[in-house]
Amino acid sequence: ATPTSIMVGTGRGAELGVLFRKGEALQLLKDARVVAVDKTGTLTEGHPVLTDLDVAEGFDRTRVLAAIAAVESRSEHPIARAIVTAAEGEGLELPALADFESVTGMGVRAVVDGVRVEVGADRWMRELGLDVTTFGASAQRLGSEGKSPLYAALDGRLAAIVAVSDPIKPSSKAAIDALHGLGLKVAMITGDNARTARAIADQLGIDEVVAEVLPAGKVEAVQRLRASHGTLAFVGDGINDAPALAEADVGLAIGTGTDVAVESADVVLMSGSLQGVPTAIALSKATLGNIR
Ligand code: ADP
Ligand code: MG
Repeated sequence: ATPTSIMVGTGRGAELGVLFRKGEALQLLKDARVVAVDKTGTLTEGHPVLTDLDVAEGFDRTRVLAAIAAVESRSEHPIARAIVTAAEGEGLELPALADFESVTGMGVRAVVDGVRVEVGADRWMRELGLDVTTFGASAQRLGSEGKSPLYAALDGRLAAIVAVSDPIKPSSKAAIDALHGLGLKVAMITGDNARTARAIADQLGIDEVVAEVLPAGKVEAVQRLRASHGTLAFVGDGINDAPALAEADVGLAIGTGTDVAVESADVVLMSGSLQGVPTAIALSKATLGNIR
């Protein structure tokens, strides 16, 4: 590519809301074989809502909701906002809490009114020595509906299964279809549970799913996908995505995402949607005269 064609392509990208922070990205994108996409906030709106809360025998639903909302009021995670909003919607007073702690990729804990409360993923409950299989049928149903099941423990006893649902962005399906039309594979990388991830991937026609990934595992997932498919573009929006954006051959950040993601990316998608990815790849192919 000549410096002039790169300049023209970069300028055309800017008109289309695709900002190339590095000219190299425009050259590399035409060779992409696989696009790996973060789920929460990239494929989905990133604003989940609480849909289900079922308590175990002997637990009061309202007390459990107030307790977990109190803990989540200290967390920045989108799941936390869903739970706090639900408690507020039911007009609940949140009890005082102490000893708040956030456990990366697992969940949150604190002491609420003298009761130790943990809220988080099934793998965390298992680590705490709790048997989540009592909620197995519910978890299976919720996951197959594309909802994310979580669990709450009170004083070391499994108290509830909670589900949040994060709507898929209306633009996601068309973007994935366009990527397929360009001959690419699409993979999803997420910390969410496998069944939920699979349900969402199936709705979108995504080819491959890497689920239950801890934040540190996203880079490894990128490396593995690149080894099996070839040149890889990664698309993400969150702080968690910054290392994967840097590791990818081309990192594309959703423009409405966090500053850290944007700064780690080679390309910024101003539209705030995945639709910018096929646009960027098509532009790369057109600019470099390599339309396949
Ligand atoms: P993701 O961005 O995919 O949600 P995270 O690493 O932030 O990945 O979280 C992984 C999992 O840990 C979540 O899917 C959830 O099960 C659990 N988790 C994380 N933070 C919280 C929280 N504040 N409340 C409840 N569960 C949480
Ligand atoms: Mg995200």
